[in-house]
Amino acid sequence: MTEELCLEPLGLPGEGRRPLVVAGPCSAETEEQVMATALQLKALGYKIFRAGIWKPRTHPGGFEGQGKRALPWLRRVKEETGMLIATEVATPIHVEQALNNGFDLLWIGARTTANPFAMQAVADELRGVDIPVLVKNPLNPDIELWIGALQRLNHSGVKRLGAIHRGFSIYESEMYRNAPMWQVVIELRRRIPEIPIFCDPSHIGGRRDLILPLCQQAMELGLDGLVVESHCSPDEAWSDAMQQVTPEELHRLLAQIVIRDEKVPTENITALRKEMEIVDDQMMELLIRRMKISRQMGIYKKEHNMPVLQLMRYSEILDKRSAQGERCGLSPSFVKRIFENIHEESVRQQIDIVNSQQENA
Ligand code: PEP
Ligand code: MN
Repeated sequence: MTEELCLEPLGLPGEGRRPLVVAGPCSAETEEQVMATALQLKALGYKIFRAGIWKPRTHPGGFEGQGKRALPWLRRVKEETGMLIATEVATPIHVEQALNNGFDLLWIGARTTANPFAMQAVADELRGVDIPVLVKNPLNPDIELWIGALQRLNHSGVKRLGAIHRGFSIYESEMYRNAPMWQVVIELRRRIPEIPIFCDPSHIGGRRDLILPLCQQAMELGLDGLVVESHCSPDEAWSDAMQQVTPEELHRLLAQIVIRDEKVPTENITALRKEMEIVDDQMMELLIRRMKISRQMGIYKKEHNMPVLQLMRYSEILDKRSAQGERCGLSPSFVKRIFENIHEESVRQQIDIVNSQQENA
């Protein structure tokens, strides 16, 4: 099934060349920070500046954005650098204020996409306004909510639509701030092939060192653009400090992305590789979870003066899993080797715990 959306190009500078980049700080904090970051990005050739003005925060009491006080700072960016300016809108008032201040691009945050009432209110406010709008995936991996949000905007007449993949909130993701679940993006591509899709590696990874691998993966999946957080002094950022990089660092990272030649017909193998990558990610998450349980068992064994190695249990695992593997066409010795290795690491982690507790005692 493909969705009936009436779409037009976003009309942004650099569109069509991959990746189309939107960069800027998580939040507009001060006029100086906004201007310094924008000038540095501009000098490096970036043309679209993002900054959060209204920040949806999980807990009350944190920095919730500067609100309308920041609007003139962003206007100044536009006037003095010529960059296009972009921000997140979550309510009709945000939309009104952004439009009155010359914003060129709006995005809908993950929390808003997940809420049909809020989405409809924003869509109603955008009726008859010809501006590009990017819709982040909802917090939960529900592609229907994501598509529904795009439809609401489209029914209000917004035709310059794009999507942003920023990962999904799951219970206990160890590797990412928001689990990428790339299969959801692949499905969005299948359902709405013509919509430009951006990746937001900053909110997926939550860490600077994950920006480049996530950007690369997004390009491997054929995504069109990147929305990346960049701050003139990342360590001092008032929100999302761990995932922000300086404009120079951003530039250095983006220069390393490899864009494959799409004319080479490697489609089938590439699709399979991507699928494999997703499974590898999941295997890693599971291994990390298993080791966590193992460490909890280490604590229990220590407290109850039990030996780390429980031979009976070990043989049971090896027998059960090799037989299971054989039933599914895997060589029993291969499965046995895998579980031997997993067990070896488990034992190592438990011994570590036992020893470290002894030292503390
Ligand atoms: C952001 O882009 O700064 C932001 C708040 O993102 P998200 O809606 O993806 O959490
Ligand atoms: Mn952020």
